[in-house]
Amino acid sequence: MEMIVCIKPVPDPKQAGKMTIDRETGTMIRRDIPSVINPLDRHALEAAVQIRERHGGRVTALSMAPGDALPVLKESLARGADRLVLLSDRRFAGGDTLATAGVIAAAVGHLGTFDLVMCGDETTDSGTAQVSAQVAEFLDVPNIMHVDDCRVSPDGDLRLRSRNEEGAFTAEGQTPMVVSVTADINEPRYVTLMDVLDSEGKEVVVLSADDLPLEESWIGLEGSPTRVLELFEPERKSRAEMLSGTPAEQAAVLADRLRRMGFRNG
Ligand SMILES: Cc1cc2nc3c(=O)[nH]c(=O)nc-3n(C[C@H](O)[C@H](O)[C@H](O)COP(=O)(O)OP(=O)(O)OC[C@H]3O[C@@H](n4cnc5c(N)ncnc54)[C@H](O)[C@@H]3O)c2cc1C
Repeated sequence: MEMIVCIKPVPDPKQAGKMTIDRETGTMIRRDIPSVINPLDRHALEAAVQIRERHGGRVTALSMAPGDALPVLKESLARGADRLVLLSDRRFAGGDTLATAGVIAAAVGHLGTFDLVMCGDETTDSGTAQVSAQVAEFLDVPNIMHVDDCRVSPDGDLRLRSRNEEGAFTAEGQTPMVVSVTADINEPRYVTLMDVLDSEGKEVVVLSADDLPLEESWIGLEGSPTRVLELFEPERKSRAEMLSGTPAEQAAVLADRLRRMGFRNG
């Protein structure tokens, strides 16, 4: 099975508290926050690697990102991807989800025939959850989101379970398709030092806009029909207070506060 996993570098969600907004430009200030692979994309990668381990094939990690993201993206090779393709060009900068998906789809087409494109359901920085569906639309193949189980049946079809707040459904279909996964699909593997060392000889390909069948008017700001008009931090309406002391002391303080607020026993 020929699989392509879309991975995006995002500011480390564990350090999200450090992220601030430049009030003049209305953009996020990301400096001093290290990047990591978007957490759900690690689950997508693990799902693809497990399919390859059972059924054979190849896993390509694909990212549209600035060149300096390469060291972070190379983690995908240690996680089991066979090769990494980075789409990097200053002309891609400022693209909205449509422009991003257009570039990814052009790269998927450029890389040859594929069976499965796997994405995370959403990212932790922009989190629009639009890219996988848009990539599928550009490639003119089916798209299933919220996938928490993905198997290959003996005849080579895909059997997928998709779950949302309303319930779940199981679908079976022929490849090629684009799916996006939730964190419930698997537990991404622990990466060992040997995995990192083994990944060092793997193929890394960097492609620019000139390598892809793209028109200038489809990419970057020019190819983006949407604009961010305003970016702001939500107003804090409540404040958390941490109680200290033994559990019994904390419970006594809490009971006293509740009594003063008018709550009574019984
Ligand atoms: C109106 C608008 C304007 C924007 N302007 C800018 C801007 O000026 N500068 C800027 O830096 N960003 C900008 N962004 C953010 C940028 O467009 C998004 O980061 C990008 O389109 C991906 O969207 P997302 O993170 O919401 O992806 P989602 O749809 O939430 O991602 C779903 C999945 O798609 C895949 N995916 C998403 N992005 C990539 C990628 N780049 N490479 C590989 N796989 C990917 C991953 O598997 C991911 O889990 C803008 C976004 C919007 C909506």
